[in-house]
Amino acid sequence: MTQNLKTKVLIIGAGTGGYVAGIRCGQLGLDTVLVDGGDGLGGTCLNVGCIPSKAIIHAAGKFETVAKAAGGGTLGITAAAPAIDLKQTVEWKDGIVRKLNAGVAALLKKAKVRVIKGWANFEDAKTCVVKTEDGDIRITAEHVILATGSEPVELPFLPFGGDVISSTEALSLSEVPKKLVVVGGGYIGLELGIAFRKLGAEVAIVEMAERILPLYDKALTDPVAKWLENHGVELHLGARAGGFGEGKLSITTRDGEPLQLDADKVLVTVGRRPRTQGWGLENMGVAMAGPFVKIDNRCATSMKNVWAVGDLTGEPMLAHKGSAQGEVVAEIIAGHDRVFDPVAIAAVCFTEPEIVSAGLGPNDVAGRDDVIQSVFPFAAIGRALAIEAGEDGGFVRVIASKSDHRILGVQAVGQHVSELSNSFAQMLEMGAVLEDVAGTIHVHPTLGEAFHEASLRSLGHAIHI
Ligand SMILES: Cc1cc2nc3c(=O)[nH]c(=O)nc-3n(C[C@H](O)[C@H](O)[C@H](O)COP(=O)(O)OP(=O)(O)OC[C@H]3O[C@@H](n4cnc5c(N)ncnc54)[C@H](O)[C@@H]3O)c2cc1C
Repeated sequence: MTQNLKTKVLIIGAGTGGYVAGIRCGQLGLDTVLVDGGDGLGGTCLNVGCIPSKAIIHAAGKFETVAKAAGGGTLGITAAAPAIDLKQTVEWKDGIVRKLNAGVAALLKKAKVRVIKGWANFEDAKTCVVKTEDGDIRITAEHVILATGSEPVELPFLPFGGDVISSTEALSLSEVPKKLVVVGGGYIGLELGIAFRKLGAEVAIVEMAERILPLYDKALTDPVAKWLENHGVELHLGARAGGFGEGKLSITTRDGEPLQLDADKVLVTVGRRPRTQGWGLENMGVAMAGPFVKIDNRCATSMKNVWAVGDLTGEPMLAHKGSAQGEVVAEIIAGHDRVFDPVAIAAVCFTEPEIVSAGLGPNDVAGRDDVIQSVFPFAAIGRALAIEAGEDGGFVRVIASKSDHRILGVQAVGQHVSELSNSFAQMLEMGAVLEDVAGTIHVHPTLGEAFHEASLRSLGHAIHI
C-alpha cells in the first residue's frame, strides 16, 4: 500500500546542494522532507568526491614524504622505504566519510528535517513516489527543490566495469595499480593520477586537448605539467583513447599513430553530466538549458515553486556552489528577498602543486588594455621556502581594473594555495580595490603574503622583489 505524505518543502538529493538547503529550511521553520537514494547523506561530494579524494591525496602526500626521506631526504631526515596497505588507507578514508555522514544526519535531525531513504520518481511537478525499503511513499509538496547532482560520463567504447573504472572505484581500490592510465586530464583525473603516482603507480595520462587542465590558463598549469614531467608521468596530449582489452588501452596519438598503453586499471575521468534521467524529470514540465535544468538568478525553474540547485543546474559543478544555492532557495521559500548572484565562485585543483582561480583570468581579459596584471612568485616568500613550497614555480596573480583598481580576478598555483582561495573570493565579493589588499597587514610568515605583494606590485611598489 502506498503511504501519502504532504510537506511544505520536498528536496530530492542529499548532496551539498540538497542537504544544505534542508538544514536551512529547517532552521527557518519550514516543514521539510529530504529524499535521497544514494549511498549516504552528503551525496557525491562527501561519499565519492571531494572528501574521499582529498583524504587519499593526503595519504599519498604522506607516503611521498616518507619515500623522499628514504631516498636520501632533503631536510636531514632519513627513513626506511615506506610500504602501503591501501585497504587500510581506504578504511581510514571510509571512517572519515562515515563520521561526516553521521554529522550531516545529526544536523538534519536538529533542524527537524525528515529524511527518507529511497529513489524518487516524479509523476508531476509537485508529486513524487519514493520507493523505500518499507514500501512506496507518495509525497506532495508546495515547493520542490531538485538537487539530483551529476554522474560520471561513460565513453561508449570504454564502458565502466572490470578494470575500467570511474573516480568512485579509484577511491576504493584495495591495492595500488602497477600501471594506471588516466583518460581525461581535467581536475579529477589529475588529482587522482598524481595521488597514485605518489603512491608508486606508473601513471600515463591521455588527454584530447593540447594541454592538461585545459580550463585553466597555461601559466597556472605549467607547474603541474612540470611536476608530472619530473615524476615520470607519461603525458599523451592531443590523443584519443580507444578500447581496452588484455591489459592494453588503444590510443591514437596526436600524429594519428595507433599506440597501445599497458594498464592494470584505466581510470576514465572525461567529465560529469547532470543527473536528469530516470526520475521523471520529463513529467515536471521544467525547461532545460542544454543538458542542465534551466534556472534564473533565484534558482527558480520555469515551473512555479520548483527550484533547482547544484550540479543539475550547470557549471561550475562544485560543491560550494550548490550549497550556496541551497541556502538562497531555502531563504526565498521562507519569504526572504534573495538572489544567487555571486561575484566569484573560486575553483581549486588539488593537484601538485595546487591551483586556485577566482574571478577573471588572463584569457577573460585578453586584448583588454584597461586592466593591470601582476604576479608575485612564492620563491620570494619566506614561508614558502620554509615549508618546501617555494621551488615549484608557484605564484599569486592579481588582475585589476586600471582605472579604479578594483580587483577582477586572483589566481594562484603552489603548494597549499587552496587555503588562500577564500581570501581571494572574499576580496572579489566585497569589491575590494588593490589598495584594500595592499593596506591589509598580512601575517608574516604566511603564503598569503604573496597576495599582498602581488597587489603592491600592481600598484608599482612591491617590497620583496
Ligand atoms: C572525485 C571527485 C572529486 C571532487 N572534488 C571536488 C572538490 O574538491 N571541490 C568541489 O567543490 N567539488 C568537487 N567535486 C564535485 C562535487 O562532488 C559536486 O559538485 C557536488 O557533489 C554536487 O552536489 P549536488 O548537491 O549538486 O549533487 P550530488 O552531490 O551529486 O548529490 C546528489 C544526490 O542526489 C541523489 N539522487 C539523485 N537522484 C535521486 C532521486 N531521483 N531520488 C533520490 N535521490 C536521488 C544522489 O544519490 C545523490 O546522493 C568532486 C567530484 C568528484 C567526483
